[in-house]
Amino acid sequence: MKNVVIVDHPLVSHNLTRLRNIETQHLEFRRLLGEISLLMSYEIARSFQTREIQIQTPLEPTLGTCLTCDVALVAVLRAGLGMLEPILTILPNARVGFIGLKRDEITLAPTFYYQNFPKNLDTYEVVLIDPMLATGGTVVASMALLSKFGAKRVKLLTLLASPEGIQRVNDKYPDLLIYTAAVDRCLNEKGYILPGLGDAGDRLFGTV
Ligand code: URA
Repeated sequence: MKNVVIVDHPLVSHNLTRLRNIETQHLEFRRLLGEISLLMSYEIARSFQTREIQIQTPLEPTLGTCLTCDVALVAVLRAGLGMLEPILTILPNARVGFIGLKRDEITLAPTFYYQNFPKNLDTYEVVLIDPMLATGGTVVASMALLSKFGAKRVKLLTLLASPEGIQRVNDKYPDLLIYTAAVDRCLNEKGYILPGLGDAGDRLFGTV
């Protein structure tokens, strides 16, 4: 497994365990996913470019730091929405794009039903947000779309990843860094992650 950053933090593991729990209802699920997303985005933001700036405190001049990159968050509908809003609270200036994909229930192949990106995507640090890296089909298709729209620097933010999904993404996009809270055991015959947390969109929006 290449290019996988496991965000290994006690608060992330604690929240993830509660997310996995079948007893956790949508209100709590939404809150916990939001908290994890914040913690994980601190890790992703480590790689964002900064520069030194001179500022004046009330007492004296000093050197400070400011972010120099523009960030575009691209959420895969619908579960990506649960990670998007919380991240916007710490990156309020980020532009936002969306990808809508459906999985064919038999072949599991993804087809687009919606896409919308900021202009000049090549100038942004793009964070592709999809909580479940399962078969990898959605991420591979989304990456192809992002690169068609000019994206050059992309990172993937996911909550749970399967070994199969990571392998598929590594094979197709060997430079893509994958940030995840955990790598689970495997996929089941329907493409769900095991042990996983079920359908992230359903659990987030209470449509189970
Ligand atoms: N999507 C989900 O929401 N859950 C899975 O386990 C796999 C894909």
